[in-house]
Amino acid sequence: MSKVADREPVTKTGREHPCPRCGSRAVASIMYGMPMFSEDLQKSLDTGELALGGCVVWDDQPDLRCNTCDHSYRMDGLRTDAVEGDSDMDQVDA
Ligand SMILES: [Zn+2]
Repeated sequence: MSKVADREPVTKTGREHPCPRCGSRAVASIMYGMPMFSEDLQKSLDTGELALGGCVVWDDQPDLRCNTCDHSYRMDGLRTDAVEGDSDMDQVDA
């Protein structure tokens, strides 16, 4: 069994929505737009609770990002354009 790297701190979001790719619970909520910088915001960025997604907004954008493997995904489980291809999903036993 491969052990998930636990260098990254577990976040509140990650406890509820662990990364579907690597299982990490170090998951940040992605904040879009231009946030007002504050000590609270900086603290959230430092602890990995929050990631900035930039100010470009599109449909079905991911709202969570794994701090361990950098995978972006949606809390509601919908696929997003940011998700890489699933060509590795096939497990063929010949
Ligand atoms: Zn991950």
